[in-house]
Amino acid sequence: MNRRPIAQINVDALQHNFNHIRSLAPQSNVLAVLKANAYGHGLLAVAEQLNAAGAFGVARIDEALMLRAGGIVKPIVLLEGFFHPDELPQIVASNLQIVVHDQSQAEALLAAELEAPVHVWLKVDSGMHRLGIYPSEFHDIYQQLMASPKVLKPLRLMTHFACADDPKNPATTAQLALFTQLTQGCDAELSIANSAGVLAWPQSHGDWIRPGLALYGISPMLAGRSAQHGLRPVMTFSSSVIAVRQVKKGDAVGYGATWVAPKDTNLAVVATGYGDGYPRNAPNGTPVLINGQRMPVVGRVSMDMTMVDIGQQAVQVGDPVVLWGETLAVEEIAELVQTIPYELLCNITSRVQLRYV
Ligand code: PLP
Repeated sequence: MNRRPIAQINVDALQHNFNHIRSLAPQSNVLAVLKANAYGHGLLAVAEQLNAAGAFGVARIDEALMLRAGGIVKPIVLLEGFFHPDELPQIVASNLQIVVHDQSQAEALLAAELEAPVHVWLKVDSGMHRLGIYPSEFHDIYQQLMASPKVLKPLRLMTHFACADDPKNPATTAQLALFTQLTQGCDAELSIANSAGVLAWPQSHGDWIRPGLALYGISPMLAGRSAQHGLRPVMTFSSSVIAVRQVKKGDAVGYGATWVAPKDTNLAVVATGYGDGYPRNAPNGTPVLINGQRMPVVGRVSMDMTMVDIGQQAVQVGDPVVLWGETLAVEEIAELVQTIPYELLCNITSRVQLRYV
């Protein structure tokens, strides 16, 4: 019996989400964001499924090179840009596109000897204050990139939202207004929307949308889970029961004895722990599904195992356990452990077998 935890990746759901996203922004090209191993779903396998994407976005050059080594020929954008000019020959050789997010990068690019011109996405900081050139620098750098034969046209201009998960947040309106004003009259393609932008801010769709989380079927919004946004969760993280045992009223369970049985009961020991990416801080009561029924985690999650109070239910060694997925929202688990679904998905470790169905 396979007791290894499994992350089942539903490729139909992935296609559904992609098509749904396209239907929301029919005039836009899609840059599908695949960073962090496609949010835990498997970088190459997800790229191979997304034939209709216009481009892929990754954070780091090694992710892009993995895609190229795996035979992916589509445009790939390095969303974090480059760190040092000595990366430029590799970027050109592998036909990667770069985000330029500060003035020194623009200068380095324009000064470099390149074997061939590159596609550039000039990132403007419209209010998130993470990456991006300052609005005051925009026109100068834009003109220089436009004038340079090293920069392929069309130039792309981009910015990134900080608060788009809240559909009423005025910070997003302000970011949109600043970016629109700066880029007015520019002969370039525009890209603003992340998943929340796609779902809730149609004014932000522009020439290129950049969805990540929504592709994987998870809602990025503060309110409303996948189904309310027309999305289907792609990953089902599951495991199996490796032991069933009795505990008496008053018995303490697990490391640190953080849960004491309030009455005689039975526990299922599930073969998944924080070494697989299940959150160690899942509190007592966090739900799992055993044989399709919700039951509570009790005691501390350990590296390889997690205990569940099954009461008097008939549970046997080998029974399937869903930790999150289509039938148990990862958003619910994320709320309980005070994080966001993004983090739970990315934290899936290499011990977990990714299985594409
Ligand atoms: N665009 C950029 C520049 C990003 O950094 C990210 C991810 O953080 C995305 C798009 C995708 O964001 P989301 O997963 O919220 O759609």
